[in-house]
Amino acid sequence: LELYQVSAWGRPYFGINAAGHVVVRPDGSEEREIDLHEVVKGLQARDLTAPVVIRFSDILRHRLARLHQAFAQAIAENDYRNRYCAVFPIKVNQQRLVVEEVYRYGEDFDFGLEAGSKPELLAVMALTEDSPHRMIVCNGFKDDSYIEAVILATKLGRTIIPVIENFQELDLILRQAAKYQVRPRIGVRIKLTSEGAGRWRDSAGEKSKFGLFVSEILELVESLKRHDMLDCLELVHCHPGSQLQDIRRVKDAINELAHVYAELKLMGAGLKYIDVGGGLGVDYDGSGTNFASSMNYTMNEYASDVVYRITNVCNARNIDHPVIVSESGRATAAHHSVLVFNVLGSSALDQFRVSERLEENYTGGQELPQPILDLFEAYRSISQRRLVECYHDALQAREQVLQMFNLGLMSLEFRGLAERLYWATCTRIRDVCRTLDSVPEALDGLEVSLSDTYFCNFSIFQSLPDSWAIDQVFPIMPIHRLQEKPSRNAVIADITCDSDGKIGRFVSQREVKRTLEVHELRPDEEYYLAAFLVGAYQETLGDLHNLFGDTHVVHIRLHDEGGWWIEEIVKGDSAREVLSYMQYDVERLFPQLGRDCERAVREGRMTLAESQAMRRFYERELNGYTYLEQD
Ligand code: PLP
Repeated sequence: LELYQVSAWGRPYFGINAAGHVVVRPDGSEEREIDLHEVVKGLQARDLTAPVVIRFSDILRHRLARLHQAFAQAIAENDYRNRYCAVFPIKVNQQRLVVEEVYRYGEDFDFGLEAGSKPELLAVMALTEDSPHRMIVCNGFKDDSYIEAVILATKLGRTIIPVIENFQELDLILRQAAKYQVRPRIGVRIKLTSEGAGRWRDSAGEKSKFGLFVSEILELVESLKRHDMLDCLELVHCHPGSQLQDIRRVKDAINELAHVYAELKLMGAGLKYIDVGGGLGVDYDGSGTNFASSMNYTMNEYASDVVYRITNVCNARNIDHPVIVSESGRATAAHHSVLVFNVLGSSALDQFRVSERLEENYTGGQELPQPILDLFEAYRSISQRRLVECYHDALQAREQVLQMFNLGLMSLEFRGLAERLYWATCTRIRDVCRTLDSVPEALDGLEVSLSDTYFCNFSIFQSLPDSWAIDQVFPIMPIHRLQEKPSRNAVIADITCDSDGKIGRFVSQREVKRTLEVHELRPDEEYYLAAFLVGAYQETLGDLHNLFGDTHVVHIRLHDEGGWWIEEIVKGDSAREVLSYMQYDVERLFPQLGRDCERAVREGRMTLAESQAMRRFYERELNGYTYLEQD
């Protein structure tokens, strides 16, 4: 269990059972467990083969309740005299089923939604039909028609707040409000002066993309006053960046925001809401530290700091406590999705075997070149005392082999022998290193260079884009055979034809490690790995590299009578679909190929049976999954 740090990053939702399978505890309690391997087998029996994203809706529900609880507790502790409202930024995962669930599960707490673009607004406006009192916050760049839609939605009765992110948007709002004679609710985003730290530090600070400078805010106040609309300014907002790893950043940002809120309130603005943006982190590596993939605080601490800072400022300035709004996306959605994929095969560099007697390694009869003799010598002389020396000798000899080969002075056969000798030497040195208490620095990288590559049936670009784009660490581990000690170390390679399609950063007790402990593959037996905490940003940021499309997605729920059931199935893209996204006229592809087959038969290049086999293959694959399918 500790090998993969499950109890650190997975608590309370993931664990391991006595059968050595990963279990999911969707409501956070140990009483109700779902065996993930059993689910995967169940899906396979329903023709839903890996790769598959499994969404545990109950985890989503639990996360929303946890967020509410954390703020409720902080509100009680600080004697705060108003409420908390989360608005879910749908950019985190715009899939209808996800947004609908967030909306449904957030109903008890009156949670709302956030849109960052016109299409997102269209989705949100329709969704909020039956509960117009629930809040909609509109961020992002806005043009006239975006603002017009917001103003009309206000007329429709929605509680909708466009947040002015740059000064020009004010004019658009004033114009559309006058046109439709609406008194809109207006929000304003401030540019925080402190830049913060971490991967998303540019979301704040004076060079940040969004938000108004203080001088612009003052101008905005004057302009609203002139239009007798200062009471319409109801919300101030900031976004201090995503995945805030250091709680000090939260404290600084909220403090600054609260002071701006207080000043504007005292100037006569009709402020009711203070919107602290997103940023609540996810502890991807479970270390609980100030690392990019972690956070040095808990959700409770976050809520407590937010509420405490706002309370203090409001009390000091003697103003009413506003509704606290947060736009926590990652922390809401990340935990509920798991990507499961199967391993297709592996390659290993420590498989090369060499005989202890030189003449048994080569029987070709030619004289062995000096670098090969040196390599053999290095191999044979390995001892604890001479580890580094032998390694350096082997490195140098290999370099000489390559030089000779490139000058045409060495045969391919000798180069093959040198390869075997070199890797066998490295393997032997690594094996001795494993018995040592401390490994010499020069040999530090050997474990990684000798690690296996496990080829896995998924696309990083489609399913874990942040792993490629920003080196995000996700917990990855086998979902079964966990009662067995893994005997291999591997990096993960996906099935795209892109050498960037690799994962070489894994969760570890110390910051990150470059290989993953995995089990030896067994013939005719599937081996499944899963990437966890992938519910935020990954699905919709993913792309169609090599035309690997959306994976299958299933929603698994706890059943009232025990066990689990499948609530929703969304089949992954077929080849037909991804080709049509690329503007292929799919209806023409098959007949085109058919004509070619006919020609081949007529000209005697193919039998009729072969041509039929080709047609059947083509038709089946057009409708098939874009990933490799198990038999
Ligand atoms: N609000 C705004 C304005 C954002 O830009 C973002 C994303 O960066 C979020 C909310 C969501 O942030 P997070 O997912 O870190 O909570």
